[in-house]
Amino acid sequence: MPNASASLWNDVLAQVRLSNPDLVRGWFNDLEFVQVEQGVMRIDARNSAQVRYLDQHCRHAFTEAAQAATGRLVAVTFQAVEEDAVLDPASERLQFDDGASGMELSPDSTFENFVTGPCNRLAHAAALGVAEKPGRAYNPFFIYGPVGLGKTHLLQAVCHAIRPHSNLLYISCETFINHFIEAVEHGGLHRFRYRYRHVDGLVIDDIQFLAERERSQEEFFHTFNTLHQSQRQIVLSADCSPSEIPSLEERLVSRFNSGLVALLDRPCLETRIAIVQRKAKLRCIEIPDDVAQHIASRVTTNIRELEGALIRLDAMSQSQGCPITIQMAKETLGAPPGRRVMIPTILERVAERFNVKVSDLQGKKRAKTFTLPRHVSMYLARQMTAHSLEQIGAYFGGRDHTTVIHASRAVSEMVENDPEFRVLVEETASEVKNALP
Ligand code: ADP
Ligand code: MG
Repeated sequence: MPNASASLWNDVLAQVRLSNPDLVRGWFNDLEFVQVEQGVMRIDARNSAQVRYLDQHCRHAFTEAAQAATGRLVAVTFQAVEEDAVLDPASERLQFDDGASGMELSPDSTFENFVTGPCNRLAHAAALGVAEKPGRAYNPFFIYGPVGLGKTHLLQAVCHAIRPHSNLLYISCETFINHFIEAVEHGGLHRFRYRYRHVDGLVIDDIQFLAERERSQEEFFHTFNTLHQSQRQIVLSADCSPSEIPSLEERLVSRFNSGLVALLDRPCLETRIAIVQRKAKLRCIEIPDDVAQHIASRVTTNIRELEGALIRLDAMSQSQGCPITIQMAKETLGAPPGRRVMIPTILERVAERFNVKVSDLQGKKRAKTFTLPRHVSMYLARQMTAHSLEQIGAYFGGRDHTTVIHASRAVSEMVENDPEFRVLVEETASEVKNALP
């Protein structure tokens, strides 16, 4: 890339990081700026999953950044360097509302981003084996475990690895059932069968939804056999082992058990710490070791919640304009369950202090008498509860998360600069704490 283009591209990325830090991912470093031609800036991503993420979440941020960096009214377009496998032309003609190759993949759910530990080593190794030798390593491959422990992540990692080379269908069990019911009702069984039996591999998430669905089970049994007999890979996930799925036909239980069945267990502390650190890196969040340790020791059962805690801290550090510290982590995640501050308590206390009605805090009136206490409530909600920006916004009459950020920022500035105001806010906060059960 010529120097001028490189520096333009650096400006664009820097601007996106600044304006929308929550959207940024580690793999943005691999994006390539191709050219600006006829008012369109072309950006290359590695695969179509990344392109979809960029299209759906980042178009606005990149457009603004590109316009700021070029000083021109440019548009942006994202393209994939690696094309996904070309599907069988016959199957492409079939009209299904979820696209020819099934559900979308999250660009974050790759093997690269999956942290291993004693809890998931077997499942991870087996998934890698499946991705390297589809249809030949473990077939079927069945992953099970409680919610939020990485089943969908591993399934998608397999899809990411295999999809560029083959026609792999990734779908939820509900979609399979819905398609089947539709096909039966509208005479489309032939088409349905063609679709599900002419793929190189089939990946179905949450197969436990087949429970109690006799006809779908029957249909799936035949789909399974057709694929399995011709050594096409089948990967399934469920929240319990095959034999624990309620009223699942015995012949399906034995089919599911005939390959490799791997459990995803709860992660130990070391693994949780490593996951927090990996997630922070993925989202380009700076986080000290003691904070990673604190989050991992607070949130023990569900990895999705671990990630949620990290995102809350990041949002807090952005709204306060300071780095994440252990102090902040303790304040945000510190309250043990049962003594958590709730937003209604904050609203009541603030309303009383500022002599307004709770409904005024949640309403739209714009006079300063109402906006100031409203902003203080949002600030305290950020400080004292574990709710996300979106959740807090929703409490205040469905306001946008950026409103919450701006409000908290304005209040923290006033708290810093106006000692009298600080006392008022601090007293209100201690009243909220005193109101806890
Ligand atoms: P499940 O399908 O089992 O309910 P998911 O696959 O949706 O769980 O995982 C929930 C979240 O936790 C996702 O964001 C996923 O990326 C993350 N996650 C789970 N396990 C791991 C892991 N071992 N390493 C990194 N992230 C993980
Ligand atoms: Mg899942």
